[in-house]
Amino acid sequence: MAWLLKTIFNLKKSVEPLVRTHEVLGQQQHSQNLENSAVTVAVRLRPFNRMEKKDKAVQVVFMKNKETVIHHPVSKQTHTFAYDFSFCSVDESDSEFASQQTVYETLARPLLERAFEGFNTCLFAYGQTGSGKSYTMMGFGEQAGVIPRFCEELFSRLSAIQNPEVTCHLEMSYFEVYNEKIHDLLVAREEQSQKGMPLRVREHPVHGPYVEELSAHVVSSYRDIQVWLELGNKQRATAATGMNDKSSRSHSVFTLIMTQTKTEFVEGEEHDHRITSRINLVDLAGSERCKTAKTSGDRLREGSSINKSLLTLGKVIYALSEQALTKRKCFIPYRDSVLTWLLKESLGGNSKTTMIATLSPAASNTEETLSTLRYAQQARMIINLAKVNEDTNAKLIRDLKAEVEKLRSAQMSSQGVEPERVRGYQQEITALRSRLLSQERQMAESSRAWREKLEQAEVRKREEAEELQRAAVTFQVDNRLPNLVNLNEDPQLSEMLLYMVREGQTMVGKCKSHLGCHFYVTVSSVA
Ligand code: ADP
Ligand code: MG
Repeated sequence: MAWLLKTIFNLKKSVEPLVRTHEVLGQQQHSQNLENSAVTVAVRLRPFNRMEKKDKAVQVVFMKNKETVIHHPVSKQTHTFAYDFSFCSVDESDSEFASQQTVYETLARPLLERAFEGFNTCLFAYGQTGSGKSYTMMGFGEQAGVIPRFCEELFSRLSAIQNPEVTCHLEMSYFEVYNEKIHDLLVAREEQSQKGMPLRVREHPVHGPYVEELSAHVVSSYRDIQVWLELGNKQRATAATGMNDKSSRSHSVFTLIMTQTKTEFVEGEEHDHRITSRINLVDLAGSERCKTAKTSGDRLREGSSINKSLLTLGKVIYALSEQALTKRKCFIPYRDSVLTWLLKESLGGNSKTTMIATLSPAASNTEETLSTLRYAQQARMIINLAKVNEDTNAKLIRDLKAEVEKLRSAQMSSQGVEPERVRGYQQEITALRSRLLSQERQMAESSRAWREKLEQAEVRKREEAEELQRAAVTFQVDNRLPNLVNLNEDPQLSEMLLYMVREGQTMVGKCKSHLGCHFYVTVSSVA
């Protein structure tokens, strides 16, 4: 940990080779902890799916080192693109095959490291439905994706920290943006609909946009995160039941807020300071929705507002790339959609951001693939201005240390002590100490609030789990009882819900249904 904190104070140097550094709009790096860096862009090619294999689909996308080549099956043209990273996951037996672990290590682990240094970080997956966004971000079963791997490593690193002078707190949120509305995935649906009002985006003058009243749960182990994720994914599956392709039309955002508190000693006195990082891991809606809103009525309205977030994302990315190219400040329409407003800091702001564009290898998807590749190309232009998010104490402690050092060297000076100067230093030291003291009082107050929050989180977690159990949705199979499993066209949401059919008669279907769309299941005896 010591090395880590040392790095924080020496941020002027060290930028990993693949992050291109630029000067933004002629602005100089004026603070020691500001870092300009372009958005890192990677592309990933998925394997053929069962249908494509059955239809003997032709492969039109190929990767070689950093180059991605696409052969247009109709125009016969060849288009070549280059990104920071290309992952070919078509054929496991290929020596260049990129596994879930490779993708994690290359893209997400560096973000984890930056988060520990106190930077905000973001990884978002973009691509058409079925191209592997959720596979990359969340993964399936043993093929865990970025989110579980990231969280697991985060906690294993935390438990390896031996330094008692550093403590770390984590809060987690998980929500979905569907049809320009925000749904908290970690709060029971009924509770949310009782409130009547959808969650709103607000903007904090320093910390930027956030979701008002979004639940943030304190997590103290990887297991905690797993439980919340499972709960959140079940809520997604429940909400998607009976609504075709809802999941491909919604954006899901997983957020962690990591706060590290570090104790430092100055002249035997103990002082604390904090660095905070916000980590956003985003699985975007299927990009094909951008163009196909040709349906009618509600579908059109719904389609167009879902498009609104993705369309605005496109406009934001375009405006930011123009800004970087022309070095002239332009208007960025962040606030035109919920998603772009929330991702404001991640795009063109205070964050280390990476995009992964997922692609299908098949000829039938050529147009979508080309459009994804062009989109990704543009995102490469975006330049962020990231900084370490430290509290004011950190600077006060640095100043205090510097003053103490000056006083010491004045006292040691061979020309004898200059009373005027020494008095000046001492006054400065007293002033700094008293400012630190008052800040620390506030911090003590917020840690008390934190402890209370932790206790509340425990209670909430139990309540939410009970809520799901009441709805007969469980986490474990009881083989003595028959059960019903949900199916969904999105493999991520399929078989997520398990309804245990209890002894006696169970009615299945909507209670309100006048059409008799329900049936009875009778379980007479359980062995
Ligand atoms: P999206 O979220 O973009 O709609 P999914 O992640 O659900 O797409 O992927 C669609 C299907 O393709 C899933 O069945 C998934 O298991 C499979 N798939 C996607 N990417 C890969 C990959 N890299 N390796 C193996 N299977 C993949
Ligand atoms: Mg998906």
